[in-house]
Amino acid sequence: MIFYHRFLFLFTLQFFLLFASAQTKIAQQNLKEMHSDFAIAIHGGAGNLIKRNFTPQKENEYREKLTEALKLGYDRLANGDRGIDVVEAVIKILEDSPLFNAGKGSVFTHEGTNEMDAAIMDGKTLKTGAVAEVRTIKNPISAAKAVMEKSEFVFLCGRGAEQFAKEQQLEMADSAYFFTQERWNQLIRVRDSIKSSPDAADTTGDKRTGETFEKFGTVGCVVLDRFGNLAAGTSTGGIVNKRYGRIGDSPIIGAGTYANNNTCAVSCTGHGEDFIRKVAAYDVSALVEYKGLSLSEATFQVIMNRTKNPKVKGGLIAIDRFGHVSMRFNTNGMFRGYADKHGNIVTHIYEKD
Ligand code: ASP
Repeated sequence: MIFYHRFLFLFTLQFFLLFASAQTKIAQQNLKEMHSDFAIAIHGGAGNLIKRNFTPQKENEYREKLTEALKLGYDRLANGDRGIDVVEAVIKILEDSPLFNAGKGSVFTHEGTNEMDAAIMDGKTLKTGAVAEVRTIKNPISAAKAVMEKSEFVFLCGRGAEQFAKEQQLEMADSAYFFTQERWNQLIRVRDSIKSSPDAADTTGDKRTGETFEKFGTVGCVVLDRFGNLAAGTSTGGIVNKRYGRIGDSPIIGAGTYANNNTCAVSCTGHGEDFIRKVAAYDVSALVEYKGLSLSEATFQVIMNRTKNPKVKGGLIAIDRFGHVSMRFNTNGMFRGYADKHGNIVTHIYEKD
């Protein structure tokens, strides 16, 4: 009996030691594959952002939220988390804030509803997921990621997307959750200005109201993780006063969101129709891949040179496989920021600040 117990003890000990050494080997292997170069960039929308229009308190709120999101992203990347998971976590912080036009802070449609779009893309596998016109999913970016990881599809919209999200047990929210007085007042202002100036009735064309042009608020995140993988994500409430089930560039792969380990990861914000027409995010990647442009040259081409219509406004953030970051816009400002591998966190709002 004593012999049997001793045998059992030794056997268990040996098993435990073998298991522990296998785990250490896996951890060492992971460490060897990890790069010291990693980086993250985010945006909270581009637009007519002028310092005098912000109270110091409002400006601080924006900077603090951008910093919180970047800090979380930096810590998780430093820790060796997958880029695609970091993109989701960072965008969730921005979606949960009423400051940005995504998730909780989404703008209202003409009918007074909130219809949100989001997409995510993994640069290693080129796998991607997107949702559009969803009204009851608390974090559309998580639904986009679930589409990518847990369905056979790429792009789900409306009720079907919501049913899928429920089946995946994602957190749902009713319309009261998405209501913010500031966004509601914005809708009323835009509706009134259209009534007094019917020329502005086309909210997706060149005659959109000044307000629609003024401020975009979509959120986006691009990362290079410690395994050399790029990932991008974008989430938005779209444009205020939109109608007829309008969907912008954000959830359209190649237009508002794109990632490819061979080139870069990109997330756009701005006049969605134009970004769709020029396949903006993929165009940045193609310029890097086929024309050999640097990331900075490629984003300059797409945002500054490819836009014929001067009213077409917007911007993008991009990161390449070396960790270079480009934050390009042709508006007065863009809520934006980045963190480098040393943990330096930088945020900007205006063109020069
Ligand atoms: N690009 C978004 C859209 O057109 C709007 C934005 O960036 O704020 O839906």
